[in-house]
Amino acid sequence: MRVEADVIIAGAGPVGLMLAGELRLAGVRPLVLERYAERSEVPRANGLGGHILEMLRFRGVLEEFEAASIGMAHPAPKYPFGDVHLDFSNLADPPLRGLYLPQQRLERLLEERAAELGAEVRRGHEITGFTQDDTAVTVQATGPEGAYEVTGRYLVGCDGGRSRVRELAGIAFPGTTYPEVNRLGQVTLPDSVTTSDNGDLQVPGLGLVRAGFTRTERGLFGFGWLSPGLALIQTTEKEPAEIGEGGLTLAELGDSIERVLGGRLPLGEPVRLSRYQFQARQAERYRDGRVLVAGDAAHLFPATGVGLNAGLYDAVNLAWKLTGELDGWAPPGLLDTYHGERHYAGARTMMHTQAQVALRRGLDPAADALRELFLEIVTDEQPLRRIGSLLAGADLRYPMPGADHPLAGGFAPDLTLHTDQGTTSVAELMHPARPVLLDLADRADLREVAQDWKEIVEIRTAKAEDRPADALLIRPDAHVAWAAAIGESAETAAPALRTALTTWFG
Ligand SMILES: Cc1cc2nc3c(=O)[nH]c(=O)nc-3n(C[C@H](O)[C@H](O)[C@H](O)COP(=O)(O)OP(=O)(O)OC[C@H]3O[C@@H](n4cnc5c(N)ncnc54)[C@H](O)[C@@H]3O)c2cc1C
Repeated sequence: MRVEADVIIAGAGPVGLMLAGELRLAGVRPLVLERYAERSEVPRANGLGGHILEMLRFRGVLEEFEAASIGMAHPAPKYPFGDVHLDFSNLADPPLRGLYLPQQRLERLLEERAAELGAEVRRGHEITGFTQDDTAVTVQATGPEGAYEVTGRYLVGCDGGRSRVRELAGIAFPGTTYPEVNRLGQVTLPDSVTTSDNGDLQVPGLGLVRAGFTRTERGLFGFGWLSPGLALIQTTEKEPAEIGEGGLTLAELGDSIERVLGGRLPLGEPVRLSRYQFQARQAERYRDGRVLVAGDAAHLFPATGVGLNAGLYDAVNLAWKLTGELDGWAPPGLLDTYHGERHYAGARTMMHTQAQVALRRGLDPAADALRELFLEIVTDEQPLRRIGSLLAGADLRYPMPGADHPLAGGFAPDLTLHTDQGTTSVAELMHPARPVLLDLADRADLREVAQDWKEIVEIRTAKAEDRPADALLIRPDAHVAWAAAIGESAETAAPALRTALTTWFG
């Protein structure tokens, strides 16, 4: 059997392309098969939000992504949660950041990065089937020259919500499709509509339309300014009866606004229009033998702004575990921790996005009371911060067997590091996606333990002001696998480090 790729990736969406780049960083050969010859022009995500921006910084690509965006990564001042607006504007360091980077641009950047790193992306190649055994997966595909087969060690379905790979692997995708129809438009508004300083609208024949959400008997109207002159408008209607054929048109959006608000809002030029229904679904298993699923193929959440964060993190989590399997150092069970960790992370995202459904759906006084109570609670800093970091995914802590330091399981703190070679940072150390034992207290005992793993784990000694630990073992996805408490004795720290290194790096 001729194995042509280490990992075959179904789909050149953001998650497939991110995975291809991460695998190349580790020297693995991915092959991406994408059914469409050209990148889709259908507008999807407006940008990236949440902790994935920090991960991109830890890979050294955030600046490039910011340069291609419509504005730098900035703290989100207000953020919709259900149809309640969380107001972070009074917090000195808001827990949630966003980057206005339309999905097509994001995909272009990720594809360029994957190509620069040497990944092969075949466009116009659709995966139609596969078989797997103990050593490999043989994929059936149809390309411009007809049907063919290609064999890889693993297959990852990054092929979206209707994933063929997931279906063929027999992985169930239980959940709900909500009946409400959402219509979204980025449009200019004609001069007949005047705007007040606070962003509210005065509309002839309709009167005052407030920025934010307006709830009526027929549904929900949402409005805000995306940039000066460009309005973001959304309607949510209960009855799906009036769905038009094909894509959303300006006329259909106008009719929907009229049904919800009871009057006509004049609309100018559309920049982008889309219509969608929310789903809440999560794959029962993220792995079936040599076949795995990631991104929308693994989860669909019933709220905006979270899909990319979750999907790109799946890719980062999976890449180094596949590398361990392919390079032969993976300890037993390493690949299964992909399901363990990312299904858990997905379930947390599902929890808060379904809570958003409950907040926005109810039309009775009890639901109004729930929204009022919720808004009251999130005017306090502590719950506001907590929800912000839940939305960002920044509070995620994976279980780390045998590691009880408060930093274990969480994302590594970005410390400034002083070394013999100069000043660097934890973020910079993570650019090549290699695991690192970071010795912050000149601990020869711990460096000695790590010698047995020196082919896999980079060993670095540095000084950091206010060091949070004597040493950190950081995985390639920047999560802390283990940490030595300050002054922890060699008797306890050395065997604990050995256990952590064995657990994660064989
Ligand atoms: C209107 C809209 C707005 C959104 N807004 C946001 C937002 O603001 N923030 C956010 O985070 N998320 C948002 N999302 C969600 C976000 O777009 C998805 O989470 C994201 O695209 C998932 O990426 P993916 O790579 O997993 O899947 P996809 O982007 O769906 O990519 C899957 C790829 O696989 C290919 N493919 C499918 N089947 C095959 C096959 N058999 N063989 C080969 N290739 C195949 C497809 O052609 C596609 O290119 C939005 C989605 C929509 C629809």
